[in-house]
Amino acid sequence: MTTADRLLQLRQQLQKASYAYYVLDAPIMEDSVYDQLYRELQKLEAENPELITPDSPTQRVGEQPASQFSAVTHNIPLYSLENAFNVQELQQWQERWQRIAPTIEKAEYVCELKIDGSAIALTYENGLLVRGVTRGDGTTGEEISQNIKTIRSIPLKLNLDNPPPTVEVRGEAFLPLAEFNRINQEREAQGESLFANPRNAAAGTLRQLDSKIVHQRRLQFFAYTLHLPGQEEQIQSQWQALEYLKKAGFMVNPHCQLCEDLDGVVAYFEDWEGARQRLPYMTDGVVVKINQYPLQSELGFTQKFPRWAIALKYPAEETPTVVKAIEVNVGRTGAVTPLAVMEPVQLAGTTVQRATLHNQDRIRELDIRVGDTVIIRKAGEIIPEVVRVMTELRPENTTPYIFPSHCPACGSPLVRPLEEAVTRCVNSSCSAILQGSLIHWASRNALDIQGLGEKVVITLLENRLVNSIADLYRLQVEQLLALERFAQKSAEKLVTAIAASKNQPWSRILFGLGIRHVGQVNAKLLSQQFPTVEKLSQASIPDLEGVYGIGPEIAEAVVNWFRNPGNQQLIQDLQELGLALADHGIDQTRTDSGKLRGKTFVLTGTLPNLSRTEAQELIEQSGGKVTSSVSAKTDYVLLGDKPGSKAAKAESLGIKLLSEVEFLQLLEP
Ligand code: NAD
Repeated sequence: MTTADRLLQLRQQLQKASYAYYVLDAPIMEDSVYDQLYRELQKLEAENPELITPDSPTQRVGEQPASQFSAVTHNIPLYSLENAFNVQELQQWQERWQRIAPTIEKAEYVCELKIDGSAIALTYENGLLVRGVTRGDGTTGEEISQNIKTIRSIPLKLNLDNPPPTVEVRGEAFLPLAEFNRINQEREAQGESLFANPRNAAAGTLRQLDSKIVHQRRLQFFAYTLHLPGQEEQIQSQWQALEYLKKAGFMVNPHCQLCEDLDGVVAYFEDWEGARQRLPYMTDGVVVKINQYPLQSELGFTQKFPRWAIALKYPAEETPTVVKAIEVNVGRTGAVTPLAVMEPVQLAGTTVQRATLHNQDRIRELDIRVGDTVIIRKAGEIIPEVVRVMTELRPENTTPYIFPSHCPACGSPLVRPLEEAVTRCVNSSCSAILQGSLIHWASRNALDIQGLGEKVVITLLENRLVNSIADLYRLQVEQLLALERFAQKSAEKLVTAIAASKNQPWSRILFGLGIRHVGQVNAKLLSQQFPTVEKLSQASIPDLEGVYGIGPEIAEAVVNWFRNPGNQQLIQDLQELGLALADHGIDQTRTDSGKLRGKTFVLTGTLPNLSRTEAQELIEQSGGKVTSSVSAKTDYVLLGDKPGSKAAKAESLGIKLLSEVEFLQLLEP
């Protein structure tokens, strides 16, 4: 799509959205989506000024409402506010105003929560409320005095002994969340359309022709701006204005704060990021205003905003972006997850460029295509997901996405079992599955192998140094040195870290094997009940189901896993390489080198240092076995002082006799 085409689309969509928002009080897109598309338009226009048209939303101050009420021209326009979407933009704003007023060294800032409501202007003459007007397009609003008078937190008479001849008070009319929900429930019950958010509900309510309805909806009002014509000396700052408003009988938001500098503003912004969720009304940012009126006057206004104020918005949890590609990822279970690769975009404080599309059905439902503008959402820590596709912004000549029929990693046909949403690669030697398995094996809650992250795993696979989990334990420093990313030290470190992981407890190893449904908790439960891999692999479904917390699905998965010849081979390899795959009830942190794997010992006589039990533990930790009588199957006899007949028998059978020192040498790494 050409830039001119994109500009045209953005202009048209934003105009439509503005109309729906301001005139119909029924938005067709989320505010954060509107803001982001608006920014895209601004950016494209800045890069291509020759393409700016006079009807562009960036060239207009506001939307002229379709008036059912009489129009009133504001004495002083109600400006909009410039937005900052992060602290850096706030700092840039400060630098900007400082350049305009270079003689000013320091400004104080008033922080006010940005209430999501509708701005209104109230005029009092000799202390009495005579008029209430909506913001409208900033220049002209609608007279809604009747409706305004139903708002209980707006005084009809100012609480001042000598009220000034005229005073104009501005502020935010809003619906508390509980009231917003109540209204929407009522509307739903009556089959009416729902308000999209409290702001639109407030705006819609203010413009109700029937004041009785307005009266029923409990609008509230926070005052934040004061104009006292002819009495400017009396009030010299925003903070004083707020004090005056409180005294005059208005509700001023109790959380306003005077800050000495921008650090104070940032702290306020951060403090309220979480706390605002507990407020009974909706907020979407912090309005930062320079406190001193003389400085405000010096800075003045742009076409659209005051230069002395800015709205610092909280990160949006939904934002639009453009899909560059659709890819599929094959996980360690073989599950094929489609994901959208997008133009990088800021979302809830982080840069995002991938979003999950869950599965084939979800793709079909969304009809998502490369080139589409999509809305993505991130709630909490969860991976972002695509909420919907803005088909109205779809370029021409796009084609529906076709889900791959074959695994992108190994080329084998993908399988989607009936009644399952997930498509899988079932080739157990698929490199993508192996990659996922290795990453999982090395992960923190499994074998916790430092330095073996995704990138290293990919390098090892690309260079064909590993072909299974067991191969990790066969890696040599020299092999790693041949790779670009390793130097002597890092190679040694990785080999040592892999070797050290042999000492991890059985429950972690079991988790690391990545058996379906066997997460950390189930691995713990199973390892306690079945303290060796032999016991677990021989367990039947009823045996497994007998374990508290283990259900039929898990039991079946475990049995199936151990039936697989590839998995049996893996277990055997790991045992030969010295992993215990067993819980001996001994200190698991002590070294288990696996050096005595498969060796059978017989102890005789008294050892100089080790007790019999200690010697036995050491042998077992290292994978060996202790028996009581000497036979042809005995590998070593550990010989102490005053040996019995066992020593002689060993000699006759040609079995190696070890002293304590020789035994300990065997265990050395
Ligand atoms: P704005 O909402 O970003 O900021 C100005 C407004 O902030 C004021 O008019 C006032 O109502 C409010 N406000 C709250 N607390 C305040 C305080 N303490 N001091 C001063 N003002 C305070 O700007 P705007 O020009 O009113 O509207 C633009 C916004 O409207 C955009 O952010 C956009 O998200 C939304 N919009 C959405 C759509 C849509 O389709 N969803 C369409 C058009 C506009």
